[in-house]
Amino acid sequence: NSFAALGLHPTLTNHLTTKMKLEHPTAIQRAAVPVLLESSNPRDVFMQAQTGSGKTLAYALPIINALLACPEKIDRESGLFAIFIAPTRELANQILGVLEELVRCCHYIVPGIVIGGEKKKSEKARLRKGVNILVSTPGRLADHFENTEAMHLSSVRWVVLDEGDRMTELGFEETITKILGKIKTSSRIYRDKFKTLPQRRVTVLCSATLREDVQKLGEESLVDALHVNA
Ligand code: AMP
Repeated sequence: NSFAALGLHPTLTNHLTTKMKLEHPTAIQRAAVPVLLESSNPRDVFMQAQTGSGKTLAYALPIINALLACPEKIDRESGLFAIFIAPTRELANQILGVLEELVRCCHYIVPGIVIGGEKKKSEKARLRKGVNILVSTPGRLADHFENTEAMHLSSVRWVVLDEGDRMTELGFEETITKILGKIKTSSRIYRDKFKTLPQRRVTVLCSATLREDVQKLGEESLVDALHVNA
């Protein structure tokens, strides 16, 4: 029951244990990390997990792992590889906090956030400078998709929809469908040099419940998904 046993890179496991003081993966991490580490036959994932279960690391660790283990060094100019969508700014900020802690062991990987609450111009500048993992809220992300030339989606490998149940409660289904449609048409075939990253886009939907509206969101956003829970 260790992070190393899940197949994570030593750089990351050392960082988790010595710097972040995390000894053992939680149940949802044990269930989800190996599935999301698989890159030759990547699968979409429905992650049923409560807040407090460690779900953020459950999806963030395998993605950071893939980026840091890439033989071609990743930096802010390499492209946008992952988009994490959260229903609220508060959650988006929490997720960014986790990412910032993680990338202390691989500082060339650049996380960023666009959630509104600041001038769109400064968000655009951030996107243009280059971000590898973007945390966002649905409305603001859709807005940037419409208006920003800086939004390059052709390298996006992972899309994580966090707190899917909150997303539906707040009425974001339509916006999410629009966002996913845009990413799908932009990144079906990867022409970049990152051959160890999944060659098919992976979508993860997290939710504490299996309510009907969340299942519907799953049907619209996931393809042949594995269900993991803990
Ligand atoms: P989350 O469910 O992602 O919101 O995480 C809830 C809390 O659990 C956060 O404060 C994390 O730092 C903490 N946490 C995540 N993974 C672990 C772990 N493997 N061991 C101990 N605490 C953890």
